[in-house]
Amino acid sequence: KRVVLSGIQPTGVPHLGNYLGAMTNWVRLERTSSPQDELLYTVVGWHALTLPQDPKALMESRIDMLATLLAIGLDPKRSVIFHQDQVRGHTELAWILSCLTPVGWLRRMTTWKSRLATSRNANDESEVDESLLNAGLLTYPVLQAADILLYKATHVPVGDDQTQHLQLTRDIADHFNRTFKQPHQKHPYFPLPTQVDTPTKRILSLKDPSSKMSKSAPDIKSRILLTDTAPQIQTKLRSAVTDSIHGITFDPVNRPGISNLLTILSACSEEPIEQVVERCRDYGHAQLKTEVADAVEEMVREPREKFERLRKERGYLEQVAKEGAEKAGEKAEKTMNEVRKLIGLA
Ligand code: ATP
Repeated sequence: KRVVLSGIQPTGVPHLGNYLGAMTNWVRLERTSSPQDELLYTVVGWHALTLPQDPKALMESRIDMLATLLAIGLDPKRSVIFHQDQVRGHTELAWILSCLTPVGWLRRMTTWKSRLATSRNANDESEVDESLLNAGLLTYPVLQAADILLYKATHVPVGDDQTQHLQLTRDIADHFNRTFKQPHQKHPYFPLPTQVDTPTKRILSLKDPSSKMSKSAPDIKSRILLTDTAPQIQTKLRSAVTDSIHGITFDPVNRPGISNLLTILSACSEEPIEQVVERCRDYGHAQLKTEVADAVEEMVREPREKFERLRKERGYLEQVAKEGAEKAGEKAEKTMNEVRKLIGLA
């Protein structure tokens, strides 16, 4: 039996990176699952708090994100779709796991290091200043481990920016398993979860192809949203940063902008990258951008229309959230009862 779990932060509308790097797999896993498999998809509100959020906007984004999960094709009768912040076990387990996690493991996370790199000491620019960052930015990978382990997930479909966090989850699970091993226990308590990749592991920012496409990057033109209209998609792609080299080649190191466009085109048209490159070899950059825009529009049209319909159905969305939280809550409580006993706080 597989237990699949993944999550997304309610920090804005999902973009092509979220969709191609992770969410397409959520739907695929639902469609290819066997009846005994469990599937859980969660909107992770507590993670969003690591960066400042406007409470009103967060409340809206949280509902919109649930609508998006349904709009991409997830079936709430098959998968447990829920808000992380409505199931208490996440924070309780996160606290227990954080007491087992050496700070050194968290300081090694590249997400932490990159936050640190942007936080310079005002008096000495060459010095990074930890005291300016909130503790949640350091410890949220533990909350992420708790999200996964609370349901004893075995498969985690996420983008490749999450690989290091998933390894940390395995390390924490292994540490817990060894620390609280019972004398006659046959299997480790927490299974060690494996990552499920999509063929498109990472989509880059349209404005800065050295970084990934992200919901919270300040420049809205750096990402294509699942809710963007055809003209918006065209405008964003037209202003995508490329290079001044003639012709089209796939060379992620030297031509990250063009290669990112080819990756997007290949994923949207479900054509191998070699075939896309062969077909577009003599295109100008503008022609390639137009073709990418058409392929993206073709792919997002249906989810966009469904999203626009669903987001107005507040009663239905609340019902889905309520049922999801109940189902997830039951599973979570079962784990927490066992964990409390294992650690001596039953
Ligand atoms: P934020 O910018 O607010 O941190 P995000 O865009 O990084 O958000 P998350 O909600 O943190 O998105 O991640 C949701 C899922 O999307 C994760 O599985 C993550 O690995 C994946 N993902 C995020 N960005 C990309 C990307 N550019 N390419 C591929 N996968 C991505």
